[in-house]
Amino acid sequence: MKGDELVAELVSRVAGEIGAILYSLGIKDEFTDDQLALELGIEINEIRRALFAMYEVGLAEYRRKKDDETGWMEYYWKIRYDRAKLVLRKELEKTKEKLEKKLETESEEIYYVCPNVCVKVSYDEAIAMNFLCPKCGSRIEFLDSSRAVEKVKEEIENIEKILASL
Ligand SMILES: [Zn+2]
Repeated sequence: MKGDELVAELVSRVAGEIGAILYSLGIKDEFTDDQLALELGIEINEIRRALFAMYEVGLAEYRRKKDDETGWMEYYWKIRYDRAKLVLRKELEKTKEKLEKKLETESEEIYYVCPNVCVKVSYDEAIAMNFLCPKCGSRIEFLDSSRAVEKVKEEIENIEKILASL
């Protein structure tokens, strides 16, 4: 996937469908959320929710200004297209960190599972259960986590490739 596609995917993951629509509009200048709601025919609350979600990851910013006529607070938004790659990089690095932690626990811990998938327990717990599933009585077996570990490793490699290409 290319950088642009990855950013689009990130936007829809954090800000949903509405966020993806707003982002795809490519509005370079400031805009107010109520004006946009009017133009797009989308509920203002949904637009705000999407914009705030984008703000949370650094893809949008806003300033508030009191409208002299109505006395209401107006939100002036700007989508930070210029920060897209930076935000994408940050999010990918976060995901990578999570996967690396997962890799650590998966590689270190030894698990035993029931063949009927009732339980997944540690070695000590398995001993305490006499290696018999407390639910169905089947003999619980050593879980070979090497495949799961391989998969996580692959995911990490994938992310590293993307990060190197950004
Ligand atoms: Zn069982």
